[in-house]
Amino acid sequence: MIAENINQIKQEVGHNVKLVVVSKFRAIAEIQEAYVAGHRVFAENKVQPLLERYEALPKDIEWHLIGHLQTNKVKYIAPFIHTIQSVDSLKLLEEINKQAAKEGRVINCLLQIYIAQEDTKFGLSKEECLAILNSTQLSLLNNIRITGLMGMATFTKDLQQVEREFRSLKTFFDELKTTFNLPDFTTISMGMSNDYNLAIACGSNLIRVGTKAFQ
Ligand SMILES: *Cc1c(COP(=O)(O)O)cnc(C)c1O
Repeated sequence: MIAENINQIKQEVGHNVKLVVVSKFRAIAEIQEAYVAGHRVFAENKVQPLLERYEALPKDIEWHLIGHLQTNKVKYIAPFIHTIQSVDSLKLLEEINKQAAKEGRVINCLLQIYIAQEDTKFGLSKEECLAILNSTQLSLLNNIRITGLMGMATFTKDLQQVEREFRSLKTFFDELKTTFNLPDFTTISMGMSNDYNLAIACGSNLIRVGTKAFQ
């Protein structure tokens, strides 16, 4: 049962960890079940399904985007998106800022950091992330708020490797926090169905859970 699953995960992780339920590939009725159970924070990884679900579901849902976002699609989600967790370029940040300004909104952004030992296509290296945070353009973007980092560990059964990757993201987060003046920089998004307990042990305070919520 979806309601039981979600309540069980919430009890397990406690109040200091935010649960984002990943609703990708799920039927509207399943998401509704989670909503009726009281859950309000959901994530999709693609723009088109996100738009369809946004239209079909109650408007007090807090929507996150967790997949790669093309700059030409930002305008479609700018009216309602709460957090874009998958920011991987300054160009994208500038476009999010532009579209958010048109809507009179401020959109939360997490910088997606590439921590995995595999050939994933998206995410910033630590150097690229530093370049963005050091850039003079960033301070001009008043309609975005950089609220933290997101990372995905390697898809592997080797938990020691996953732990190393999670710890490297937490260490990097702490470094940025002390180096830059980022008042809203509070979120470390790491951990999914199979590894959220390990992620939390390594410092995560936002987990993205799909499979385990809907099983
Ligand atoms: C699908 C997805 C998740 C959820 O994965 P589960 O293993 O189903 O919990 C989390 N994060 C991202 C970026 C995803 O694409």
